[in-house]
Amino acid sequence: MPSYAKRVAPFGTTIFTEINQLAARHSAVNLGQGRPDFDGPQEIIDAAVAALKGDSANQYAPSPGLPSLREGVARHAGVFYGLDVDPEAGVIVTAGATQGVYSAIMGLVDPGDQVIVIEPYYDSYVPGVRMAGGTPVYVPMHPPNWTFVEAELRAAFNDNTRALLLNTPNNPSGRVYTRAELQLFAELCIKHDVIVISDEVYEHLYFEGHQHVAIASLPGMFERTVTIGSAGKTFGMTGWKIGWVYGPPELITGVWRSHQFITFATNHPAQAAVAYAFSLGSAYYEEYQALYSHKRDLVMQVIEAAGMSAIQPEGTYFIMGDFSEVFDGNDVEFCRHLIEEIGVATIPPSAFFSDKHRHHAENHVRFAFCKSDETLEQAAERMRALRG
Ligand code: PMP
Ligand code: GLN
Repeated sequence: MPSYAKRVAPFGTTIFTEINQLAARHSAVNLGQGRPDFDGPQEIIDAAVAALKGDSANQYAPSPGLPSLREGVARHAGVFYGLDVDPEAGVIVTAGATQGVYSAIMGLVDPGDQVIVIEPYYDSYVPGVRMAGGTPVYVPMHPPNWTFVEAELRAAFNDNTRALLLNTPNNPSGRVYTRAELQLFAELCIKHDVIVISDEVYEHLYFEGHQHVAIASLPGMFERTVTIGSAGKTFGMTGWKIGWVYGPPELITGVWRSHQFITFATNHPAQAAVAYAFSLGSAYYEEYQALYSHKRDLVMQVIEAAGMSAIQPEGTYFIMGDFSEVFDGNDVEFCRHLIEEIGVATIPPSAFFSDKHRHHAENHVRFAFCKSDETLEQAAERMRALRG
């Protein structure tokens, strides 16, 4: 009987789909997938409706993206990071950050190249590297503080290293890399002539005492970095699947060449609305952070109510809870137990590690707190049963 390609055989089903299905089967409160159970600002939705009802947005958008949105991305990078991004030659609008990462890898990595992947990593990175014919080289962050070891990072670089895949603020660890950590990445990338694919979808989601630094803004880095963002995260519209990649024209040309033949162009009305969203002032980002620091406090209570422990995340809407005080087993077993017996769904973070380093996360589960306060309170109520 005909079957699928060997290329996709190892991919299986993503952990998000798997957990969503199990959660639905057991009517669990779902703190698994980073899928908000509320919408982003109404005025952005109104802008999408206006675009749908207008006379130009229901046909193909230009392949690299709507000029007004590319200008918004470039302006935003100038305001927040002091970067001089060319809206015409330096920005591509993609179908979410997932396609942005994929197009960046396909457009920048050759077969045989090594790509350094910092763990824990977002689950689409490694399939992307493999589909490009590259080889992932893993550098783990270590619990409980999720920091990497400088010697391990240095040892990962060699003459075959083509790219470093970074994610800060980091899903699922909640880390926001410090300027000093980013400077070390930068020093090594410059020394070995390596490019950076920097996934910064949570760029506006960092908490008190922390600050997101775009690696492209460090000296000597703009010309070797492509940076990825997402309206799903920044404007709370995950269903729209609008993302972007910006960087120097030479590298963005590679991203665009692959983008043209993956999707050609992305959702036109949603692009018009995201262009509008980029005109919101700084108060929007401040309110967004305030909303999520409140939710982070609620989810810390969920974790404490369960007798588990957690280090407060520095950014993102994820938190890693350590369950070793309340359960004897690994993260996959604990997730299953939580869904089936307690009625709360989380994600086992070993899915964000290579086989070799999976054990780093084995007594943690990832909670997503992009959920209404009612959902978080309901989860807290159920989690109390873990103690007793
Ligand atoms: N990168 C990271 C680190 C993420 O957490 C996500 C979230 N889902 C994505 C990329 C994908 O974003 P999008 O939904 O825009 O494809
Ligand atoms: N980025 C979100 C998460 O980490 C959702 C990803 C997805 O469903 N593919 O939960």
